[in-house]
Amino acid sequence: MGEKRKKTIKTIHVDADKCNGCRACEMACSAFHATPKYSSNNPARSRVRVIRKPLEDMYVPVYAGEYTPAECMGRNKYKIDGKEYDECALCRASCPARDRFKEPDSGLPLKCDMCEDVPDLEEPLCVKWCMVGALTYEEREVEVDEEEEVKLDEMEVGLESLVDKYGLQQVKDLVARISQKK
Ligand code: SF4
Ligand code: SF4
Repeated sequence: MGEKRKKTIKTIHVDADKCNGCRACEMACSAFHATPKYSSNNPARSRVRVIRKPLEDMYVPVYAGEYTPAECMGRNKYKIDGKEYDECALCRASCPARDRFKEPDSGLPLKCDMCEDVPDLEEPLCVKWCMVGALTYEEREVEVDEEEEVKLDEMEVGLESLVDKYGLQQVKDLVARISQKK
């Protein structure tokens, strides 16, 4: 076992039942990430976007996650509490199938960075400006094995370079072949 170190896990709890679709979170996020900071706001630049269907009383904030180079093949639908949700709308990825979570001028992917800043903010801006408490912030410390973390980081870098070189499908096929032998 390697050295243990503390790592902070940051979580935003989303209570969609409380969200009223005001979009203050989008405004705050885009202003915080404007250059210079707070010089403008444009929801298209926000790292949180709110699915809004007022006629169905449906408001769901969705946070920008990872960039993906390929869109998925399905367009699934979920029914939750009698309301139908389009899985694509709930997805966090910046993906080729839609404009969401892409910087409107450059087309570069956007990703929520939890408002990382120096010095640290007390809480992310979207949480701070959500006046109805639909967003709440939690920080907790966990202990991680440094050696394990380094190994996982190395593995990820190695896999990414294999994917860049041979393509995702070839790497997936290879992993499937190896796992059949095990
Ligand atoms: S946590 Fe910060 S970066 Fe992430 S969506 Fe909220 S305001 Fe934007
Ligand atoms: S600020 Fe809060 S209530 Fe307004 S849209 Fe965002 S999550 Fe919903």
